[in-house]
Amino acid sequence: GNNNLNAKLVLLGDMGAGKSSLVLRFVKGQFLEFQESTIGAAFFSQTLAVNDATVKFEIWDTAGQERYHSLAPMYYRGAAAAIIVYDITSTESFTRAKKWVQELQKQGNPSMVMAFAGNKADLEEKRKVTAEEARLYAEENGLFFMETSAKNATNVNDVFYEIARRLPRA
Ligand code: GDP
Ligand code: MG
Repeated sequence: GNNNLNAKLVLLGDMGAGKSSLVLRFVKGQFLEFQESTIGAAFFSQTLAVNDATVKFEIWDTAGQERYHSLAPMYYRGAAAAIIVYDITSTESFTRAKKWVQELQKQGNPSMVMAFAGNKADLEEKRKVTAEEARLYAEENGLFFMETSAKNATNVNDVFYEIARRLPRA
């Protein structure tokens, strides 16, 4: 079969959860304490080698604000994968992430690979959402779950690798 795959991937989640920071860490290996808010959406691409295949991710980093909500379907439609991001220090962001999952389950591509990422795992002392609660939710909804830190790079590449591994091969 064809070992070179292009995969559209979208990041969804509350503003401030760390979507842009995860992408910046993955694509450039960088982190900014004062990451600028995304306006509308930003596009990145990054290629990963997984076993004998190459996956070229076409990444749409969305804004997350309610006023941009109507644009979201443009980014998740036809997407092979999504990363739904929340901030482990914010129950509101966890609630918002679950709403995104529901929306994707209703409107998204049924074979979409979905990752549920509890970001800012470095802020353990400020944690509001337990890993157990999130893992259970993810399991019940057919997503895979990881806690990440864009700041210290924990599990960031791993999320993208796991998605690449799970993508259906042609
Ligand atoms: P977005 O709105 O979801 O794209 O969130 P941003 O990537 O813009 O991040 C919002 C804020 O959280 C910025 O000040 C980032 O520096 C910070 N941030 C993002 N990821 C992390 C993380 O893993 N740990 C910590 N401590 N801060 C983070
Ligand atoms: Mg952003």
